Amino acid sequence: MANHINFLLVVAAFGAYYYIQQSLQPTQKTVIVVGGGLAGASAAIEAHSEGSRVIILEKEKDLGGNSAKASSGINGVGSVAQKEKGVEDDVKKFVGDVVESGHGLADEQLVQILAEQSASAIQFLTSHGVNLDVLAQLGGHSSPRTHRPSPPKDKPPVNVGFAIMRALKEYIADLPEEEATVIKHAHVTQLLTDDKNGKKRVKGVVYKNQEGNDVEVKGDAVILTTGGYSFNTKMLEKFAPHVAHLSTTNGDFALGEGIDLAAPLSPSLRLMDQVQVHPTCFVDVNDLNSRRRFLAPEALRGSGGILLNHKGERFANELGLRDYVTKQIFQQQQEEEGPATAFLLLSEEAVEIFQRPNLKFYKFKKLVREFEGGVREFAEEFNLPVERVIESIVKYQKQKEEGQDEFGKKTFPASFNVDSPVHAMVITPCIHYTMGGLQISKNGEVLDSSLEPIKGLFAAGEVTGGVHGANRLAGNSLLECTVFGRLAGENASK
Ligand SMILES: Cc1cc2nc3c(=O)[nH]c(=O)nc-3n(C[C@H](O)[C@H](O)[C@H](O)COP(=O)(O)OP(=O)(O)OC[C@H]3O[C@@H](n4cnc5c(N)ncnc54)[C@H](O)[C@@H]3O)c2cc1C
Repeated sequence: MANHINFLLVVAAFGAYYYIQQSLQPTQKTVIVVGGGLAGASAAIEAHSEGSRVIILEKEKDLGGNSAKASSGINGVGSVAQKEKGVEDDVKKFVGDVVESGHGLADEQLVQILAEQSASAIQFLTSHGVNLDVLAQLGGHSSPRTHRPSPPKDKPPVNVGFAIMRALKEYIADLPEEEATVIKHAHVTQLLTDDKNGKKRVKGVVYKNQEGNDVEVKGDAVILTTGGYSFNTKMLEKFAPHVAHLSTTNGDFALGEGIDLAAPLSPSLRLMDQVQVHPTCFVDVNDLNSRRRFLAPEALRGSGGILLNHKGERFANELGLRDYVTKQIFQQQQEEEGPATAFLLLSEEAVEIFQRPNLKFYKFKKLVREFEGGVREFAEEFNLPVERVIESIVKYQKQKEEGQDEFGKKTFPASFNVDSPVHAMVITPCIHYTMGGLQISKNGEVLDSSLEPIKGLFAAGEVTGGVHGANRLAGNSLLECTVFGRLAGENASK
């Protein structure tokens, strides 16, 4: 009998212990991520590693967004690549560059986080198998800190954004379905909210599925990672009418929908009039007025490419900030109709620095042409004054050797020689990135118009506004997506 009672007591004690343990375990959170670019993928991976169940809703047929198009690189200070190459750089210098580039409008608290977390962001990506071993010093940066992969020896090269998205997509796809669910063709149209003590709290979303039916998904937090509004002419006309007529490098999914989704909750919007026009977008001479253009990557100028106008003259420091170079190109416009164009030339040395295989795609698309007869042949082909073009090249080379450039260029990555083959492309400025968007706290929470966090709502990536101020530095968007995506994923899981 006594044994029997003892046995029952032991069972009861175990039962009570188990019950208490269970009730002490925080219940698993469900985090809904709207948009499957780099910010969304980073948020989802981090939320999952914090123990949340994640659901990624993407309106397109695959994850990727504009993130998969990125071609110049991602910034990082204190990375393995910087250490291996003996680059002297630090967080303070990086913060200084971002703040200066943002013309006083950058949110310095967010900039500090961006720079401090940059090495960890690079490490996060390399730990998922992304090779980021090549470093470049791009316009507005005071050190080489923009990372991209070297082209593989046995396979065609892919751009940095594609390489990153491929790795993160594979990682997410390998997670158990009940822990991480990806729903494609899921167009989120509404946030679900409830009222708690008179305060609205986000509890889920409604999305339209491929069959056109509305589906509700409930969760503990929603992270908006829907990207920018470069393809939304109406939004541009409202907030940035001065650029609304320009073409863009962005996909047609870049409609600023995260901003519309949050609108019923009166979010604080920052810098909606700040739109980055990239100085160098490829012009297809057979489709001069195209709405969408391929980006002529920043790394082309970072590798030593030089710009010439239609008179065959240089007119700018090619490594100046994007807004400066853009302005200089617009000032060269000769025709009243059509886009303002200029020429970007790469010497053989610049091609080697850019890495020849990386030009293959653009040559295939006939956006880059090689002139084996050198700049003379290039000038004749484009009806430029041949002697003036030669003069410009000779002058540039002399200034490079003397370290004194008439436009204030301080680093000269590549030499030019009049008789060597040259690669040439026609470029024009076009809309590339929207700096404006939802204002977020340092924890990635979306702030309302009183600057209070909206409960249950987070955001990261290009849908947010503030970190870049009036002008984004090359390589800082992929970094922003990784840093603030992870931060939002972590905090949404708390
Ligand atoms: C050609 C090009 C080159 C670039 N190169 C660089 C570079 O080298 N370095 C750099 O730092 N930055 C670069 N950028 C900028 C950078 O790639 C993007 O700004 C950044 O990747 C945006 O990431 P994101 O995750 O915020 O948005 P995106 O990657 O655009 O992803 C947003 C996703 O949300 C989805 N979505 C939108 N609305 C909804 C909705 N309502 N429901 C469901 N899904 C929705 C979209 O379909 C999309 O897939 C480049 C941009 C372009 C266009």
